[in-house]
Amino acid sequence: MNYNVHYDIAALVITCIIGIHFYLKRSIRTGHTQVFSTLLFFCIVSNVLDIVTSFTIEFFSRVPLVANYLMNMLYFIFLVGITAVYYIYIIIQAKEETLSVRFKTVMVIPMIMAVILVLTTAWTKWIIYFDDQGMYHHGKYIFLIYTIELFYVLVTLVTITLNRDKFENKQIFTVVFYSITGFSALGIQSMYNDLLVLHFAFAIALLLMYLSLENPKDYIDSSLEVYNKNALLENAKVNIRNDRKFQILALKVDGLKYIKETMGNKAELAVLKQVSSVLKQNIGKNHLYYISDDTFAILGSPGKEKWDEYIGMAWDRFDKKFEYNGVGITLSLHMCMIAYPHTFTRLEDIMDMIEYSLLEANSRNKREVVYASDDVLVKGRRELKIVQKMKQALKDMTFQVYYQPIYSVEKKYYTSAEALIRLIDDELGFISPEEFIPLAEQSGLILDIGEFVFREVCRFISTERLWQKGIEYVDVNLSVVQCMQEKLYEKLFEIMDEYRLDYNYVNLEITETAAVISSDVLVNNMNRLKEKGVKFSLDDYGTGYSNTANLIKYEFHTIKLDKSIVWSAMENKKAMLALKHTIAMIKDLEMKLVAEGVENLEQAQQLEAMGCDFFQGYYYHRPVNGVNFLSEISNRFIERNGAI
Ligand code: C2E
Ligand code: CA
Ligand code: CA
Repeated sequence: MNYNVHYDIAALVITCIIGIHFYLKRSIRTGHTQVFSTLLFFCIVSNVLDIVTSFTIEFFSRVPLVANYLMNMLYFIFLVGITAVYYIYIIIQAKEETLSVRFKTVMVIPMIMAVILVLTTAWTKWIIYFDDQGMYHHGKYIFLIYTIELFYVLVTLVTITLNRDKFENKQIFTVVFYSITGFSALGIQSMYNDLLVLHFAFAIALLLMYLSLENPKDYIDSSLEVYNKNALLENAKVNIRNDRKFQILALKVDGLKYIKETMGNKAELAVLKQVSSVLKQNIGKNHLYYISDDTFAILGSPGKEKWDEYIGMAWDRFDKKFEYNGVGITLSLHMCMIAYPHTFTRLEDIMDMIEYSLLEANSRNKREVVYASDDVLVKGRRELKIVQKMKQALKDMTFQVYYQPIYSVEKKYYTSAEALIRLIDDELGFISPEEFIPLAEQSGLILDIGEFVFREVCRFISTERLWQKGIEYVDVNLSVVQCMQEKLYEKLFEIMDEYRLDYNYVNLEITETAAVISSDVLVNNMNRLKEKGVKFSLDDYGTGYSNTANLIKYEFHTIKLDKSIVWSAMENKKAMLALKHTIAMIKDLEMKLVAEGVENLEQAQQLEAMGCDFFQGYYYHRPVNGVNFLSEISNRFIERNGAI
């Protein structure tokens, strides 16, 4: 028979081009790229054998019989191998977990059968044989080989159909294409024995697969020319599947955002490239990944890699400057280490764990690598959840405002109150503002929350006419983020006007940190608001700078002594002396004093003796909701002043 090898030659050209491209790009060796290279190998070998045997069959008299048998047998083994390997390739992508031994055994049986059938064909003549003249023939059971091939093509199709959700459309298309062309080519080739189109069909399917499933670009960050997050996760996946220990060191570079803002995108990228090439030089291209957001990662096994050297090198390099257009650029760095299976066991946790641990590293603000732990993950998840809860609470208006009465020593009843926000969630229960306010500040939600509280307080004062119940003003806490808003005063006036509220009824509490950070903007805001009668208190005095200059610069109506200095004064003589002087100085500056955290009579008496004007604390009253607050102040007020 004369075979037409043109399609085979075309197929070989295509497969070789894919092969060359694949190896030149040095794709990352993940589980399925390994299977892909095996597939490529099978296709090429079987393709070559198909061409070679088409000649050895034709010119059989010039070829030793044994060699002819051997090459034809190998050809059939590799041919079935292609469909089997393709099946493995798809199943590896579909199943995250390792396959069970039973499943593997069942699926390998047809392949073993094919190998046995082929290897014994010289005796059985079932698959192929050479007659006495040395002519080549198909045996009567050759259909078994084709059936096994069809079996693998079919299970591939079934696997991808059952796992549709794990594949993208283009991947499904590739498999369907492979199956249909595979079927048709098998059909054509069994009808027209001389037309060798099967490998051409495989080559086209392989090309499609390469373009859609196995493009090395998917694993490379093109601008930095290092592996990307996909590559990291793929590698981690392979390690987890094989239950191999590994760890990831993540390095987050700080200061690039600032370069972008001041010098532009081009400068930022150039500096990032420098960082990348420094890391590449010291760590090697094969272990380095750029996983987004100015963060690099190194993945390796705990024993093999020189982790301490990497860490030391990174700290040392970042102590020196980087450079752009002759300008020295200082960057800083924070790092975390996560380890499988020590600190995490699931692939899905990797990115979260890195993110939360880096945040933790950032907040520690020290030259240390944070070793991730479950706590970090739990904390991070909780924080994320709280942010979602806050968004929901803003939408559903389920934030509540509580009021803690403030006792006036002079009048001997409550003359003001502090508004304190409350978030009570069905799932998480009571969430302290000490926990959620900082998260609201980081996520920017504080502006909406602050506005909600302020509006609610204005509504409350105005509808309940608190001034008629002895409450002269209500304290509202302002976050540092609110203080940095240039037009804060406009917003606050707008809300107070909405409720036709006298500006005197509002007292805003600011911490010293907020005052220092947003200095000029705050001074402007304060002046505009004070002009019209709004009062200001300095909150948490005694915890931060406690700088006398700030007391003079910002002209507060009231200073609120933080509970910590109140408490330590009660336990420690020196602290008591310091508190006495602080109180005397503030009184000399003609500002009012509120002592926070008064929890018992003894504290109240001592603070009164030192000259405090107001008390806020559990000894007097806990924060309560609006209704309870109203009944409390109404009762007390009536007790003292008679019915209104
Ligand atoms: P802060 O402004 O120092 O508020 C006083 C905190 O001390 C309140 O805690 C209050 O319940 C608590 N407290 C009062 N008396 C006592 C006492 O005798 N003993 C003890 N142990 N604690 C006492 P809370 O309500 O948990 O608020 C915590 C912090 O959350 C506030 O500290 C404030 O910084 C922030 N915050 C609360 N509401 C708001 C708000 O509406 N806006 C902003 N920006 N921050 C708020
Ligand atoms: Ca406060
Ligand atoms: Ca306070």
